Amino acid sequence: MQTLNETHHPELKSWVQSANDGKSDFPIQNLPFAVFRVKGSDQLFRGGVAIGDQIVDLARLAASERFSGIAQQAALACAKSQLNEFMSMGPEAWSSLRHALSNALREGSSAEADFGEFLIPMAQAEYELPCQIGDYTDFYTSIHHATSVGALFRPDNPLLPNYKWVPIGYHGRSSSIGISGQKFHRPKGQVKAPDADSPRVIPCNRLDYELEMGIYIGQGSLMGESVALDEADQHVFGLCLFNDWSARDLQAWEYQPLGPFLAKNFASTVSPWIVTTEALVPYRKPWKRDEADPQPLPYLDSAINREQGALDIELEVGLETATMRDLGEQPAVLSRSNFIHSYWTVNQLVAHHTVNGCNMRAGDLLGSGTQSGPEPEEAGSMLELSGGGKNPITLSNGEVRTFIEDHDVVILRGWCRSDRHVRIGFGEVRAQVLPAKD
Ligand code: CA
Repeated sequence: MQTLNETHHPELKSWVQSANDGKSDFPIQNLPFAVFRVKGSDQLFRGGVAIGDQIVDLARLAASERFSGIAQQAALACAKSQLNEFMSMGPEAWSSLRHALSNALREGSSAEADFGEFLIPMAQAEYELPCQIGDYTDFYTSIHHATSVGALFRPDNPLLPNYKWVPIGYHGRSSSIGISGQKFHRPKGQVKAPDADSPRVIPCNRLDYELEMGIYIGQGSLMGESVALDEADQHVFGLCLFNDWSARDLQAWEYQPLGPFLAKNFASTVSPWIVTTEALVPYRKPWKRDEADPQPLPYLDSAINREQGALDIELEVGLETATMRDLGEQPAVLSRSNFIHSYWTVNQLVAHHTVNGCNMRAGDLLGSGTQSGPEPEEAGSMLELSGGGKNPITLSNGEVRTFIEDHDVVILRGWCRSDRHVRIGFGEVRAQVLPAKD
């Protein structure tokens, strides 16, 4: 496991003043990675690191040869339009670049005199997917989500017996994963009402979001190789926010016997910034498994995983309707949850994914599954909040929703805070639903 080091020190401040206000998602302790360019320009996309309300342009920084050694090699890899090569370089390279940036950006650094030439205001930026996502696997790690959704689909048998033994997942589709700002048309597909003789093809009537964490693989693994639990974090580059859009009516008709298919592959949206595994070290927490539950099999169990496998990440879902937009109203908060409730840790997901020898590649994305907390108001999907569409939700402005309507924008946010460390955030991921195509 990576450990605390000087880059996490709570006293560190940056000469970029906007990073120091205690509210920014991007203080000097965070330093997340994205791929960006100046909005509306024909510039090449390239890697950047967030500091306050600015972005360090890693292409310009690399060209200046300001850093040396591994940090310079890492910066050069980040100058490309996709971060796969950098992500594949592994923790030593990630950490070297982080340390070099932390040193250059901290208050009192001599770099302040001329480092400003590498900064671009975040307000002027647009983003692209941070890497080529070769494969996307979606897990199902919230037992609260699995139980309440299971009760809606199978009232007599909500939680299947394998759930507490196997980190349940399925292989998704990467082609339809888009960056924050994604707009997509309401999907159409086969829907069958319980009392109908046959299905119809109609626009989805039960469009839903899913509040998830996205987990990016950095260093890959070879086919035939199983990644050991306590080495798994060496393979995880970092985390983002992830909205895994779902068509619940399509899902109900198609999901047996082989699982999700067209209900899940029409759109999924990631936030631009990847918060690195190293930046998250201060927010590691003990991972607990109820004594009454089956304990993990040996390949999914270790002292380190129990001591610090969980991640304390606060999560929030917001909804902005067309009316709110027209009237300039704030989005309604639909729910809040926390990744700490996950039944399985990130390392357990990687260890399980590779136990059969399945190879992982840099840029592969794992979805955590919808992160619902133990309380009903902590649900990470509209399906749960509205009790399967039976209990409409009244929004802060009086509008009512049971599922997502055309022109709605869903916004996910996440952050970490503690008494002893500086708050860091993930930024946000937003996406808008357009009417179904004719
Ligand atoms: Ca999902």
